[in-house]
Amino acid sequence: MTSPKPGRVLYATAARRAILELLKREQRYLTAGSIYLLLKDANPKLALSTVYRTLELLESLGTVSGRSEASGESSYVHCSDEHHHHALCTVCGHVDDVDCAAMEQFKATLLAKQSFLLDEHSVEFYGRCADCR
Ligand SMILES: [Zn+2]
Ligand SMILES: [Zn+2]
Ligand SMILES: [Zn+2]
Repeated sequence: MTSPKPGRVLYATAARRAILELLKREQRYLTAGSIYLLLKDANPKLALSTVYRTLELLESLGTVSGRSEASGESSYVHCSDEHHHHALCTVCGHVDDVDCAAMEQFKATLLAKQSFLLDEHSVEFYGRCADCR
C-alpha cells in the first residue's frame, strides 16, 4: 500500500495550477462552485472541497482576491502583485485592473480640505468594458 500523502500533495498542486489558469483566463469573479463546474470535465477527480481549500490558500498568498456576493458566497479573481483596483463590467463581469495613481491626488485633497490623513483605501469601479459598450 502506498502512502496517500504524496499523491494528495501532487494533486493539490495540479488543482492549484488548473484553478489559477482558469482565473487568469477568465478575468472575472468566480465562485468556488462555478470554478468547480468549469474545471470538472477536464479534471474528473477534482473535488469541490479542494477548490474551496485552494482558493483560501491562493487568497492568503495574495494571488487571488476575494469578495462577498449578495448571495453570501465568496467569489475570486486573479490578481497581480502590485497594488491596484478593480473596474468591474456590470454587463459581462469582466475585471480590469486599474492603477492607483489618481488616489495620491485624492489623498492630498483630503488632507488639504478636510485635514483627514488617509492611511488605507479600498475602491471598486463599476461600468462597462470595451466589449459591452
Ligand atoms: Zn486584482
Ligand atoms: Zn463587459
Ligand atoms: Zn489604491
